[in-house]
Amino acid sequence: MSMNAVGRPTAPANENNAATGDEEFVSFSGHRGLRLKEPLIFELGREGETGVDLEGPGAFDDRLGGLAREAEADLPGLAEPEVVRHFTRLSRLNYGIDMGLFPLGSCTMKHNPRLNEKMARLPGFADIHPMQPVSTVQGALALMDDLAHWLKTLTGMPSVALSPKAGAHGELCGMMAIRAALEARGDARSVVLCPESAHGTNPATAAFCGYKVKPIPAKANGRVDVGALTAALDDTVAAVMLTNPNTCGLFESDIREIADAIHAAGAFFYCDGANFNAIVGKVRPGDLGVDAMHINLHKTFSTPHGGGGPGSGPVVFSDALKDFVPLPYVSQGADGFALKEWPQGDDDASFGRLVAFQGQMGMFVRALTYMLSHGADGLRQAAEDAVLNANYIMAELDGHMTPSFEGPCMHEALFDDRFLKGTGVSTLDFAKAMIDEGYHPMTMYFPLVVHGAMLVEPTETESKAGLDQFIGALKGLADAAKAGETDRFSGAPYHAPMGRLDETRAARQPVLRYRRPD
Ligand SMILES: *Cc1c(COP(=O)(O)O)cnc(C)c1O
Repeated sequence: MSMNAVGRPTAPANENNAATGDEEFVSFSGHRGLRLKEPLIFELGREGETGVDLEGPGAFDDRLGGLAREAEADLPGLAEPEVVRHFTRLSRLNYGIDMGLFPLGSCTMKHNPRLNEKMARLPGFADIHPMQPVSTVQGALALMDDLAHWLKTLTGMPSVALSPKAGAHGELCGMMAIRAALEARGDARSVVLCPESAHGTNPATAAFCGYKVKPIPAKANGRVDVGALTAALDDTVAAVMLTNPNTCGLFESDIREIADAIHAAGAFFYCDGANFNAIVGKVRPGDLGVDAMHINLHKTFSTPHGGGGPGSGPVVFSDALKDFVPLPYVSQGADGFALKEWPQGDDDASFGRLVAFQGQMGMFVRALTYMLSHGADGLRQAAEDAVLNANYIMAELDGHMTPSFEGPCMHEALFDDRFLKGTGVSTLDFAKAMIDEGYHPMTMYFPLVVHGAMLVEPTETESKAGLDQFIGALKGLADAAKAGETDRFSGAPYHAPMGRLDETRAARQPVLRYRRPD
């Protein structure tokens, strides 16, 4: 494989790949058919050239106080059509939800309805500025108030903070409110309990807030061990962070008992709501005794994520926490909507401000559009269909792959690597071979409580025909692995623009900055 000056592969993987059978073919341009090779923009651009024709500046007073750059900025010089082609080619190397099924478990990669995009582009939402006088953005504030109403209604919680910008950020918001509430009652505590199956952001958030994290083991049926949890609850525990449905794709059936035990110990119940997609319209977290829960608008409520757009992670709060929520928030006054931006009086308990402005306005518009276009009954059906699709996959693959737990799942099907035992094929190999079949891999090696985990979340937006094709591909791979066709796995992917990369090295020694070769 050819490498550029910073050690990055520049050629399609199969240039040197025996498995494709056409390794002899190397074109003059490096392209292979209409699959176009794309170098880095710095390699493509020319030094000292520019895509625009501007006259040099005339005489001017230098007001930079001697801080003006002396060296060249060293930007790649390209004309507009070259820039357009570069990014268009790169975009075609990417895989996204608009190209096919994206079974990444826990991530809820559902279709992003185009109506959402149309609404978000309305100039009254897209072209406003957060520092405009509130009298000029009443429509936007009304929209935020409507979204807040839907989130509170769907969760059965009295209060919501819209400003957090991702699920993890929402966790931070929730834990800061919990810390503020504990400190307000003069009872600062030091420990947060997280189940072993928790998403990594949960313990990371607790640690970031200054808490010591204690793990709680799972039972053989994939649920939290309630006995172990209650045994760990004492007056040092500030909160328990639980995901429901949990990351094994299972509903925590003892959740009420757990909530009561948490409250009896004087602690708070933080629920990771990333899996809310499975229960919207069916279960209200407020009824389960939850004190704070983030909602990933970019999962449950269909706003784009990954390469498609920023996240948004509003947090709903119980009565016990609602005085501690962050600023700013929308309130209704005599003259229409207002923004509460600053603490009022010394006894204002808000823990402060989490972000500069109001949050991800574009995502609020998309999420509310999704809610209004589905209606309450449509949202419930989306949750039911997500669960149905996951169970269909699990049932169809039973006997080919090994489901980790007995019984039905919620919106994601969890498999482990027992079906690969003795084949020499690992979960990683299996996932890479899926790329050759035209599928983005499922989530691998998460949750940690299952060996060689493969977590598949189809979402409700896949058709039965699409699911059948996906299931067929997975059956074919599972059967090939058992039949000893290891070559098909060990070097996979063979047909992707890039072959098997050294992902560990890429994560540990990332080269983030281009240096021009001398
Ligand atoms: C996605 C996810 C998170 C984090 O959300 P981000 O928006 O990616 O920060 C936390 N917990 C679970 C279970 C998740 O699936």
